[in-house]
Amino acid sequence: MKTQSSTRIAVDVAIIGAGPSGAVAAALLRRAGRSVLVLEREHFPRFSIGESLLPQSMAYLEEAGMLQGVVEAGFQYKNGAHFVYRDQSSSFDFRDKHTAGWGTTYQVERAVFDDLLIRCAAGQGAEVRFGHTVRAIHPGARPLVDVVDEADRPYQVEARFVFDASGFGRVLPRLLNLEAPSRMPTRAALFTHVRDGIPAGATDRNKICVATHPERRDVWFWMIPLAGGRSSVGCVADAAFLAVPEAEREARLRALIQQEPTLSRLIGDAPFLMPVRHIGGYSANVERLHGPGYALLGNAGEFLDPVFSSGVTIALRSAHLAVQTLNRQLDGEQVDWTTAYDVPLRKGIDTFRAFVERWYTGELQDIIFYPDQTPSIRRMISAVLAGYAWDETNPYVADPARRLNALHDVCTQK
Ligand SMILES: Cc1cc2nc3c(=O)[nH]c(=O)nc-3n(C[C@H](O)[C@H](O)[C@H](O)COP(=O)(O)OP(=O)(O)OC[C@H]3O[C@@H](n4cnc5c(N)ncnc54)[C@H](O)[C@@H]3O)c2cc1C
Repeated sequence: MKTQSSTRIAVDVAIIGAGPSGAVAAALLRRAGRSVLVLEREHFPRFSIGESLLPQSMAYLEEAGMLQGVVEAGFQYKNGAHFVYRDQSSSFDFRDKHTAGWGTTYQVERAVFDDLLIRCAAGQGAEVRFGHTVRAIHPGARPLVDVVDEADRPYQVEARFVFDASGFGRVLPRLLNLEAPSRMPTRAALFTHVRDGIPAGATDRNKICVATHPERRDVWFWMIPLAGGRSSVGCVADAAFLAVPEAEREARLRALIQQEPTLSRLIGDAPFLMPVRHIGGYSANVERLHGPGYALLGNAGEFLDPVFSSGVTIALRSAHLAVQTLNRQLDGEQVDWTTAYDVPLRKGIDTFRAFVERWYTGELQDIIFYPDQTPSIRRMISAVLAGYAWDETNPYVADPARRLNALHDVCTQK
C-alpha cells in the first residue's frame, strides 16, 4: 500500500464494508498477494441481524483461512431446520442431502462472528479502518474512492478495483443509480434476543425453528438458539402488519409470539435481552453486479428475504466468485464480469428466489409438510435449504420453478 500524499492512498483493492462479504473477500485477496484496504463506517463489535448460517458457507470460511477461528469460537452448533405449522412439523437434517460438502454449521451472534472474520482478514495482512465512511466513488480503470474519517477529515483511495460490500448501506447502488425494483413485496421484521431457559429436550437447539402463524401462512417466526442460553426470535410479515410505533414494538412481538403455539410454549414470557428492533423494506436489487472498476458483493447487490437464512451464504459465495474473477483480471486476462460473476452468482440467487416465492404462496409449505416424501427428493430439497443452490446436478437447482410446481401438484394430488 502506497501513500502518495497525506490525502491519497494507493492500493490494489479497496473494500467498502467489513461484514462477512467484505471480510472474506479481503482474506481471499490477501492470500493471492493483493494489497487490501477495508473501509468500515462502524466500530466492531456491532450488532447485525442474520444469525443462522447455512452449511455451504463453511466452504468459503475454510477457503479464507477462517474455519479454525469459527470452530473454536464456541458458537451454537447447527445441523438443520425445523418447520412448524399448527399441528404439523417437519425437520430437515442438512447432513442428509443431495450435494456433497459440509452438512453442519453454526448459529452465531453476528457482533462476535463479524468481528472474528474481519480480525482474521486483518491477521492475514488486510488493513482495516473502522470509523471511516465512504462518501463517493469515481469509477473507471483506476477508480477513486472519497472517504471521511471520524474527525470528518477527507481523503481519497486510488485502487485497481473496488468491492462494494456495504450490505444494506448499498453505497454504490445509491451513488451510481444502480438500484432496480426488487421483485419481492415489501416485508418487515420485528426481532429481539430472549433469555430462553429452554429445558433440555424441549426443542432441538441444533436447528433453526421456522414457525408459520396458525391463521396467516404469509406470516412466520424464527427462533434461533444461540450459545449461552439465549435465542434470537423474530416475526416476518408484510410491512403494514408490523407497523407499530417504536414504544409498542415489544408488546406487538410478545402478542404475536403468543399466537403461535410452539414459540409460545418455548419462550413464554422469557425476558427480552434487548429492545425489539424493526427492519423493513430490506429486499433490494440492482441492474447489474459490476461496472468499470467495481463489483457489488453480498447485500450490496441483491437481497431476497430472510426465510431460508441464505443471506450470509450468498454474501460469501459472491466474495469467492468476485475474488476469483478479479484475480484473473489483475493477472492481465481480459475478463467478462457478466459471464464470470453476475450470471453464475444469480443462478443460486434465482434458486433461492423460486423457493422464497413459493414459501409465501404456501406451496413450498405444502411440500415441506407433505407426509409421504420420496427420500431422494427430500435430499434434493435439503441440499438447497443447506445452501447448495448452485449445484446444477440437483434438479431443484437446475430448474427450480418447474420442479417445485410439479412437486406441489404431487403433494396436493392434482
Ligand atoms: C430480518 C433479517 C433476518 C436475516 N436472517 C438471516 C439469517 O438467519 N442468516 C443469514 O445468512 N442471513 C440473514 N439475513 C441476511 C444477512 O443479514 C445479510 O445477508 C448479511 O449480513 C450480508 O452481509 P454483507 O457482508 O453483504 O453486509 P453486512 O453484513 O450488512 O455488512 C456491511 C457493512 O458495511 C458497512 N457500511 C455500510 N455503509 C458504509 C459506508 N458508506 N462506508 C463504510 N462502510 C459502510 C456497514 O457498517 C456494515 O458493517 C437476514 C436479514 C434480515 C433483514
